[in-house]
Amino acid sequence: MRIVDIETFLMQVDAPNLRGWASDGSFGTTATRQGLVGTRNWLFVKVHTDEGIVGIGECSGWPRVIQTAVQDLKSILLGEDPTHIERLWQKMMCAIMGHGMVGTVGGGAMTGIDMALWDIKGKALNTPVWNLLGGKVRDRIRIYAHANTAEVALSLKKRGITAIKCGGVSDPVRKVAMLRDAIGDEMDLMIDLHGPPWLTPADAAQVARALEPYRLMFVEDPIAPENLDGFRRIRDSANVTLAAGERMATVYGLRELIEKNLVDIVQPDTGRAGGITQMKKIAAQAEAHHIMMAPHSGSLGPVAEYAALHVLAAIPNGLILERIEDDWAGRAQTVVPHPLQENGFLKVPDAPGLGVDIDEAFVKKHPSECNVSIPGTAKSGAYAEGTYDEQVYVQTRLKRGVYFPRG
Ligand SMILES: [Mg+2]
Repeated sequence: MRIVDIETFLMQVDAPNLRGWASDGSFGTTATRQGLVGTRNWLFVKVHTDEGIVGIGECSGWPRVIQTAVQDLKSILLGEDPTHIERLWQKMMCAIMGHGMVGTVGGGAMTGIDMALWDIKGKALNTPVWNLLGGKVRDRIRIYAHANTAEVALSLKKRGITAIKCGGVSDPVRKVAMLRDAIGDEMDLMIDLHGPPWLTPADAAQVARALEPYRLMFVEDPIAPENLDGFRRIRDSANVTLAAGERMATVYGLRELIEKNLVDIVQPDTGRAGGITQMKKIAAQAEAHHIMMAPHSGSLGPVAEYAALHVLAAIPNGLILERIEDDWAGRAQTVVPHPLQENGFLKVPDAPGLGVDIDEAFVKKHPSECNVSIPGTAKSGAYAEGTYDEQVYVQTRLKRGVYFPRG
């Protein structure tokens, strides 16, 4: 079998808006053509073979940029046997290394292609990808959803969801206390402090200690991921379960976080960590340190979610999968079939390969317009020292008082 073509499908996910993280459509709501910055794109990849088998994959990381990277990589993959996945991954890595450290953009490009190669292999052998990865450890994957208010948390609980995560940009301890009070003890609760250095390691350690009584499943990205020494400080001073890794890619990118035991849970993103090939290896790296894996899914589209289900089915240390419930009505129309959660779980797919395809006509109806975003409000551009709008990466942005319980 030979690779004869690689196609990309880039789409805009919900309406462009003025604010919000690229990874989380829930922040932005104002559709406008003026000062366009926000929202997500999804990039799907199809690898065509001379035997008519087509593999599907997805790249997150910075989809509009990655589309060009995938087209560049195509030139070294045409004519290759798609079943030699490891060799082709190594070939892509060598092709990229001259551009610098791989990161999630290079990782995202390799991811979509790698995912499609696993899909082709599964289809060729008439077996699901989880079977190629060693078989099933579990038949269904527990998911968690996002909730920042008691109302949303309770509606998710009613729908059977058993775990929720809130975002902790300001006053995280108070928010966690409010949510724990609303949902009771039977649901799992976690918080994402989102990583930019608005907390110093000393502040983050204090926040982590204040969160101890709420029995969180994990505290995510308390400080910027570049600051691994800071993670050590937090770890040594607070008795909370730490999670990180969503902005890192490949076994090389996550190595120190795991080997130095800086977290209890690693969160590589299935759409940009380097593909199923790397997810499986990162899981093994983590397993050796008794670290669990809970893949990030903030920016993921529905094809990468399928890949996560196969990986989590096959690894012993798969903890839970992030899933943004109801992020965009078009999610369900983008893929066939669209998986539905039941009692807080997604079923592991049993069809050959990944078991999913995109609706190309629907994807083409949503052409990409923009895919860069910035935190802050529509007033962005004003210099607002010590606030969310200051937009200076290296300095603590928010007034420290908002992080701590008062009185
Ligand atoms: Mg996160």
